[in-house]
Amino acid sequence: MLKIYTVLCRAGYMDNYSYILLDEASGASAVVDPSENKPVIEKLRELGIKPDYILNTHHHFDHTDGNLELKELFGAQIVGNRLDSRRIPGIDIGVNPGETFSLGRSVAEIIDVSAHTQGHILYYFRQDKALFTGDTLFNLCIGGLFEGTEEEMFAALQKIKNLPDDVLFYPGHEYTLHGADFAFRYNGGNENIRAYLEQAQARIRQGLPAGPVPLGVEKACNPYLQAANLAEFKSLF
Ligand code: ZN
Ligand code: FE
Repeated sequence: MLKIYTVLCRAGYMDNYSYILLDEASGASAVVDPSENKPVIEKLRELGIKPDYILNTHHHFDHTDGNLELKELFGAQIVGNRLDSRRIPGIDIGVNPGETFSLGRSVAEIIDVSAHTQGHILYYFRQDKALFTGDTLFNLCIGGLFEGTEEEMFAALQKIKNLPDDVLFYPGHEYTLHGADFAFRYNGGNENIRAYLEQAQARIRQGLPAGPVPLGVEKACNPYLQAANLAEFKSLF
């Protein structure tokens, strides 16, 4: 079993999420997208975890700033897309989309979703029904197109739509309330999204992440996943 702990970073201005992963069977551990060190290290110390790996979804600083210090402190090996090796600080293990990466007995499939950046990847733990989406899919919205086209983002999102509804997704930022207005309007006040929002707001008020949300719910509420074809998708921009 894969244990997942959420760490809020850059709170109140960028609201990044880093995630600490523990493969209980083997004790192997990792940090997904260490955005900044202080909160990540505090949580690692609280849990008594020394991460073996860092898993980066893409090169942006708000996902990789912790790389080098965590590597130095814990000897963690940095994993990222081989194709983006030159931009991922301290990369040790280059993975290729279509391959897998094993965290102990928990296996992540590497999925290319180049659009937010070229070389952005997802880590999909099929057995554990967990998907780390970085800056590609957020709650009720998606990441900006810094290095890709609307066509590429649409294609990337189709890969996510094809995954099972009961997979939980873990985004790189807490942007639920940013996306909510637009999603609500797009959906004409449908009940799914009202329930989604109420739950998210209640959790955020308690200082908890809105998610993780099952992909099935996201597919029914996120306009960028609801868009049935490229033309409809493009009309959202
Ligand atoms: Zn980014
Ligand atoms: Fe980001």
